[in-house]
Amino acid sequence: MTPTHKLLLLPGDGIGPEVMNEVRRVIDWMGMRRDVGFEVADGLIGGAAIDAEGTPLSDETVARAKESDAVLLGAVGGPKWDNLEFDIRPERGLLRIRKDLNLFANLRPAVVFAALADASSLKADLVRDLDILIVRELTGGIYFGKPSSIEVHADGTRRGVNTLVYTTPEIRRVARVAFELARMRDRRVCSVDKANVLETSVLWREEVQRLRDANYADIELSHMYVDNCAMQLIRDPKQFDIILTDNMFGDILSDEASMLTGSLGMLPSACLGDAVATGRRFAVYEPVHGSAPDIAGQGLANPLAALLTFAMALRYSFEMIADAENIETACHDVLDEGLRTADIMEVGKNQVSTSEMGAAVLRALDRLAT
Ligand code: NAD
Repeated sequence: MTPTHKLLLLPGDGIGPEVMNEVRRVIDWMGMRRDVGFEVADGLIGGAAIDAEGTPLSDETVARAKESDAVLLGAVGGPKWDNLEFDIRPERGLLRIRKDLNLFANLRPAVVFAALADASSLKADLVRDLDILIVRELTGGIYFGKPSSIEVHADGTRRGVNTLVYTTPEIRRVARVAFELARMRDRRVCSVDKANVLETSVLWREEVQRLRDANYADIELSHMYVDNCAMQLIRDPKQFDIILTDNMFGDILSDEASMLTGSLGMLPSACLGDAVATGRRFAVYEPVHGSAPDIAGQGLANPLAALLTFAMALRYSFEMIADAENIETACHDVLDEGLRTADIMEVGKNQVSTSEMGAAVLRALDRLAT
């Protein structure tokens, strides 16, 4: 019998709907050619939800997200909503879905496609075929710790306070995600902290090591200070497989790593939560890029980040590894054919529109399926 996977699509704003259309074509292709049934529902988030429902993410959409096996998100935001109060801005929809689904693990792959190695700011040899995954703790640490304030003293000087706090369960649950993902990859995790200075990092290092020793002896675990990791990512990024780190370090390192790949239009990401009754984890998959209002509606958006995001959903929510690999290979193939959207265009290559790129990926999938 054809399995049915429940997907909720939240295309959002700007180029979000455009790139999501190309994902829909691949979903349809999988139904026809691979006999994989997806039950696909649509919802609103961001500015589109503000316009239609008066809020960047409605309770009903949150409830539908919780009933889905995975949520695929496009992007949110745009100038139309820039003057709204912070609390009702499109971006609040993103924060709300992460919070309500308790998505504590952020996955940011940095993969360099051989055909685009020259687009990196590093030498092509250093990054060609790079494939690392950063697992960042997303709901704890210094961004959420209390107290946090700016105090004004009697003499007019001020004092800013943030609190870096982690508990054993917060560390262990994200470390568990990293170790489980490592079993689907090269079985190597590098945990990054600042244990030479911070008590929270000492705790982080001890808890990660204990969990590995108790449950994941098959995984090679190393530890690295964050300042060294920032250097190593530039010096020799291919030494890493999975980098596991806290919220703030991960925020910075994942942006650094994404620049190694040279293009925002190529980067997928995922946020994972706890396993629920179905055995699946709550999960939201989204390209790293935003709604790109400067190019929206012109057929210029690169759909590959969104397609690679869908591949991540197949891999991490549905264990459809072969199908995920096929989509990734198809994305490699279209680049090898010399096809480029405007954002990654180079001299001598063939510039195509969003839908032409999507069509080329479908043709590549056809070839891979025969
Ligand atoms: P952006 O990622 O939207 O765009 C940055 C630059 O990259 C732009 O020049 C854009 O044209 C280009 N770009 C981005 N994605 C592309 C793609 N797939 N193909 C081709 N070119 C692409 O970031 P921004 O301009 O800082 O923000 C625009 C809006 O998006 C803002 O409202 C911001 O708040 C929002 N935003 C949303 C998310 C999200 O939904 N996760 C993330 C970042 C920014």
